[in-house]
Amino acid sequence: MRTDDYRVRPGHPVDLAQWATDDDGGLTKDEAKGRFRELNDRLEVLQEKLYADGGHKLLVVLQATDTGGKDGTIRRVTDGLNPQGVKVASFKRPTEEELAHDYLWRVHAHTPGNGEIVIFNRSHYEDVLVVRVHELVPEERWARRYDHIRSFEQLLVDEGTTVVKLFLHLSKREQAERLQARLDDPDKHWKFSVGDLAEREHWDDYQEAFRVMLERTSTDATPWYVIPADRKWFRDLLVAQILVDQLDALDLAYPPNPDDLSGIVIT
Ligand code: AMP
Ligand code: MG
Repeated sequence: MRTDDYRVRPGHPVDLAQWATDDDGGLTKDEAKGRFRELNDRLEVLQEKLYADGGHKLLVVLQATDTGGKDGTIRRVTDGLNPQGVKVASFKRPTEEELAHDYLWRVHAHTPGNGEIVIFNRSHYEDVLVVRVHELVPEERWARRYDHIRSFEQLLVDEGTTVVKLFLHLSKREQAERLQARLDDPDKHWKFSVGDLAEREHWDDYQEAFRVMLERTSTDATPWYVIPADRKWFRDLLVAQILVDQLDALDLAYPPNPDDLSGIVIT
C-alpha cells in the first residue's frame, strides 16, 4: 500500500470532495485484517526500538469530525504496544486556566520526550476548527494561527520530533449511520452526544475548516494524511502502515551495552 497517495502535498489546493471516504485499498476486509495484524506486530517491535534507542520522539496528531473514529483508531493501533512508551493526550473544551493562556500553552506540555510516542486525540487544530466554525475568537485572531501552528510544529521537528498528522475523513452519510447506531443501542448511549447533532448542522463549515487546515499546514516536515474513514478496517490498516513507515524511516537501533559482556558467566 502506498501511503504517499494519502499525503497532502504542500502548496497544492485541497478539495475534500476529491478524497475518498470509502476507499478499501483493493482489499477485502479479511485481507486487511490479516495485514493489520502483521503491521501491529511490527509496530510493537519498532516501538520497543524507539524506546531503547532513546534519540527520537514521535507525535501523532489525530483530527476528525465527530464519530470519525479517533477513539477506535487509538484503541486498535496502540493494541499490544508497551504502555510505558505511549501516551494519549486528549484535548477537550479548554478550562478557564487554559483559556487564560495562549492556545498552544496546554498543548506543548504534552509533546513527546525521547523514546516516546504521543497521540493527540484532538489538538491545537481545534483552535482553527471548532473555534473558527463558531467564531469563538474573532477572525483576525484565528486567521493568524495557521502560521503559528506551522512554526510551532517546525520547532518540534527542529528539536528532534517526528510529526505526523492524520485526518480521519468520514462521509456525512456514514456519520448519520454511526449516530443512529448509537441511538439504537442502549449500550452505546453513553457515546451519544446531543451536541454532536448540533455540530452536524455545521457540516459544511467544518469541511471548509478542515480543507483550509490541510491546505495551509501540510508541510514536507509535518505532513497531513487524509485517511478514508468510512471503513474502520481500512482506516486502521492505513494508520498502522503510516506509523510503521515513519518509525522505519528513523533507522532505530538498540544501543550497545556500555560494558563488555563477552566474558560474563551467569552462575
Ligand atoms: P470529545 O472529544 O468528544 O470528548 O469532545 C471534546 C469537545 O471539546 C469537542 O466538542 C471539541 O470541539 C471541544 N474542544 C476541544 N478543543 C477545543 C478548543 N480549543 N476550543 C473549544 N472547544 C474545544
Ligand atoms: Mg464527541
